[in-house]
Amino acid sequence: MPPELGARHRGLPSANRAAVARYAEQDARAAAFLDRDGVLNVDMGFTHRPEDLRFTPTAVEAVRLLNAAGYFVIVVTNQSGIARGHYGVEDVERFHDQMLRTLSEQGARIDRFYYCPYHPDGTIPAFAIEHDTRKPGSGMLMQAMRDLPIRREGSFMIGDRQSDLDAAAAAGVPALLVETNACDLAASVRSMLAEHAFGEIG
Ligand SMILES: [Mg+2]
Repeated sequence: MPPELGARHRGLPSANRAAVARYAEQDARAAAFLDRDGVLNVDMGFTHRPEDLRFTPTAVEAVRLLNAAGYFVIVVTNQSGIARGHYGVEDVERFHDQMLRTLSEQGARIDRFYYCPYHPDGTIPAFAIEHDTRKPGSGMLMQAMRDLPIRREGSFMIGDRQSDLDAAAAAGVPALLVETNACDLAASVRSMLAEHAFGEIG
């Protein structure tokens, strides 16, 4: 079979393809990529115990705002404490469960957590490597964009370190730097929505 014909037979008829494209476009939503420690919750240094979870003052409100605006709320967090042997993957997941429970009691929802367990100076061999999921690498944001129907237009990142801004830049989304542990996250979200959102807020 000539390659051209083969391609046509493997593909969708063009009318269906257009319908699929339209559906995907309608389905796609912008995402807010949020750093965790120092932004959503108070960073106490390798924070991992559920009882140490303290949201920053307006973090819950910020997540609710994003939910109402139709954004995916996605946490992207470096967790080198895993590579350094301070705590394990299951501790991180317990902490995230605690975040979800506390948020849900207040009508807020995080859609997905991505965490990077790697660090080149780690003491746990399996995690003691360079990895592009570690911010300033864009790996976690790119993975989220593969996993979910995220529209880059309107998406943004909020973090408290230069590495957060660099990760966002590498993923092609704008970012805002906020003050560690002291940010008014709801105000930051409002300003990012005002600047970047379109269509989501009706
Ligand atoms: Mg941080």
